[in-house]
Formats: sequence, structure tokens, C-alpha cells
Amino acid sequence: MAFESLSDRLQKTFKNITGKGKLTEKNMNDMLREVRMSLLEADVNYGVVKDFIARVKEKAMGTEVMTSLNPGQMVVKIVHDEIVDLLGTQDAPLNYKAMGLTTIMMVGLQGTGKTTASAKIANVIKKKQSRNPLLVACDVIRPAAIEQLKTLGETIGVEVFSLGVETKALETAQKAMAYAQEKGYDTVIFDTAGRLHIDEELMQELQDIKAYVHPDDILLTVDAMTGQDIVNVANSFHEQLDVTGLVLTKLDGDSRGGGILSVRAITNVPVKFVGLGEKIEDLDVFHPDRMADRILGMGDILSLVEQAQEKMDMEASAKSANRMMNGQFTLTDMLVQYEQIEKMGSLGGMMKLIPGFSQMAGQIDEDKADSKLKKSKAIILSMTPEERENPSILRASRKNRIAKGSGTSVADVNRCINEFEKMKTVMKQMSSMAKGGKMPGMGG
Ligand code: GDP
Repeated sequence: MAFESLSDRLQKTFKNITGKGKLTEKNMNDMLREVRMSLLEADVNYGVVKDFIARVKEKAMGTEVMTSLNPGQMVVKIVHDEIVDLLGTQDAPLNYKAMGLTTIMMVGLQGTGKTTASAKIANVIKKKQSRNPLLVACDVIRPAAIEQLKTLGETIGVEVFSLGVETKALETAQKAMAYAQEKGYDTVIFDTAGRLHIDEELMQELQDIKAYVHPDDILLTVDAMTGQDIVNVANSFHEQLDVTGLVLTKLDGDSRGGGILSVRAITNVPVKFVGLGEKIEDLDVFHPDRMADRILGMGDILSLVEQAQEKMDMEASAKSANRMMNGQFTLTDMLVQYEQIEKMGSLGGMMKLIPGFSQMAGQIDEDKADSKLKKSKAIILSMTPEERENPSILRASRKNRIAKGSGTSVADVNRCINEFEKMKTVMKQMSSMAKGGKMPGMGG
């Protein structure tokens, strides 16, 4: 996942400062230097870092912070808010027309994930927003691109309009518009040609399509792995096409994250979606605040709840999420969580989304973790409903019975209960954060 080392470093810095009872100008400056170094090392644009640090410093030196009960925590909150600001403050949804055909033009360099993103977006707006999209293959340079789009279209049940490589891209776009009107589609997504580098011919082709289609959105796909070059590419496309949104792809890779943190601040184009893998469903709507939480290692409880709701029994999930957000968390809820994790596949990926577990995620051995998870499930299943609601009644004889019933040992039972207590504490912190807008787990 992107941002890993930045995230590690910032968390260490914050642990240091939140551990300090009193904030002095010296330890504040030390912390700011660390934050600055972390951002530069993550390859964030120099100018962006400079402005960022200046803003944090100005706010952090205010009397409100210096005299507060926990100044370290206040400073972490300031850094968090400034990162949200860098990433865009507000969610940026697609620009749908109130009436008539909405058109989305996908642009970007070859290999950035444009074709994949076209299909992912078609899929997400069809499923979640009940839109009726048509995909259009305007990348007529590469026959493989047309085939790829057709295959993806078939997978998601979305029609792909193509006139093959013999027809010019503009003509394909024109005929596609007429076709979409005739067939009653409400959204058209144009997958345009990419190049390895920006060239005039490509830009002309894109401008011609734009002039005809009048897109409601022009989405530029940028590959998170290209680092600071994202900014140059985005600037060039934006100058010539007035891009309305970015799709950051390959965030699942180990990019240092600098380009991602710089691009919005420099181009002022909002990020609308992020690509998190090769599969069709690996696309998220971009939420700046959740991304900031993730960078600061606070987990992403909201994404977790959303993903869980989609993939598992809705009712159990909603109940469990509700209880978690209210700070009530029992072994039954933990069982539901474990079942979700199992259903969702990758344990490592899930762990990163669970508050408090993100730091552990890189260190876990998945096989071991899976067998631990199975054991814990068996243990909880061997408990009576009363024991699950109130584990404090578990004395030696009950633990013995549970260990026998689940084919584990008393030590395993103790471990499971410990884990539960830890999770419960995290959930409590999360719920008080959700209610009071405070930061969890940062206290000294
Ligand atoms: P295009 O040339 O811009 O249309 O790029 P493609 O859509 O063909 O994607 C290029 C490669 O990147 C393909 O192998 C995709 O499977 C892969 N890809 C696209 N998006 C993502 C992503 O978010 N994560 C990862 N890991 N791979 C991606």
C-alpha cells in the first residue's frame, strides 16, 4: 500500500510528541523538522512541503494549542487537518447532468490504468448509482485496448460501443453519442487513446473529441507509482484539456505517496477515484479525510464498514457497525468481524483498515494469522451467549470447558480474550472520536 513508510515515520514522530506533557518551542520545532523530512523523503514536492510546514507551524504556535491540556494531540490534529486540506477537503463526486446524456471522457498516458478505470467506473455507477452506462472504445491505435475494454464490459454487463481500428476516434465518439441517445443510455464513458508521452497529435485528437462531446467530466488517470512526475503529467493535460478530476491508480503498490500528496495542491484538480488493484471492484470513491486518517495510521473505520456492508450479510454488519460506533463491543461482534475478514479474503489488507491494527499489518504472517483467526472463532463459538456478552465471568473452569469444546488450550482462550479487550478499547476510542471529533489513541 502507498504511503507505508511516510505513515510509519509520522506515527513515530507523533508518539514522541504526544508523550510529552509540556510542549516547548524546541520540541515543537523538532517535530516539525521530522514531519518536513518525512514528507520530503516521501517525495512530496518541495514547495508543497514548505507551505505545509509554514501553515502547521502558524497554527501550532497559537496560544490555544500551547495552553491546551494535551498540546501534542492538538498538533497531531493540526497536521491531520492540513493533510486533508492538501488532499482536497471535500469529496468530489461526478458531474451528472440533471437531464440528458452525461458524458465522461477518460484520458491519460498509456499504462496508467485508463481502460481498467473506465470499466471500474462504469461498474460502480451502474451498481451503486443505478446509472445505465455505455462504454466507448476510442483508443483506436491499439486493437488490444478495444479487446480489453470488450472483455471488461462483458464481465460487468455493460455494453461496449466500438467501430474497430479502421474508424477514427472522433467518428467513433460521434456515432457513439447518437447510438447512446437512440438506445436510451444515460451515461457515456469514452476510453481514449494513450501514449507513452504527451504529444501534439494525441492532444489534438482529445481536444476534437472534447469539442464534440462536451464532457461533463474529463478524468485523468495517473499512476501513483510515477512519483512526482504525476504533477508534470497532470499539469500538461490540465493546461490543454481542463481536466475536471483525477483517478489515482495503483495505490495498492508501494509508492512513497509524494506525487499523490502534491498533485491536488499544485493543479487544484480534485481526486475523484482511487484504484486499489487490478480487479474490477478495486476502485474507491476518494475521501480526503479518510485518506489522511490512513496516512496517519488511524485506520479507516468508515471504509471498513462500507466494504463489510457490501460483501456480507447486511443486517448483521449494520448492527455490528452500529454497536461498534456506539462503543458497545462484545465477543459476538468480534465473531462477526472475524467472519467478515474471512469472507473478504486478504487478512493483511483488512488489518490495515482496522484502527489500531494498521501498524501490525506489515508484520503479520498471513497463514499464521489465519489459523489464529480460526482458533479464535472456534473459541467464541464454544462460549455461551452470556459468556460472549460478558467475558468477565470466565473463570478457570469455564475456560477449561471452552478450551476443550473448541479443541484449543486455556492459553489460547486467554489470548482470545486479551485480543477482545484490546479491540474493545480501540472501538471505544473510535466511537468517542466519531462523537467528539477528537483523535484516538494519540494520548501520551
Ligand atoms: P491503459 O493503457 O491506461 O488503458 O492501462 P490499462 O487499463 O490497460 O492498465 C495497465 C495495467 O495496469 C494493467 O495490467 C492493469 O491491470 C493494471 N492496473 C490498472 N489499475 C490498477 C490498480 O489500481 N492497481 C494495480 N495493481 N494495477 C492496476
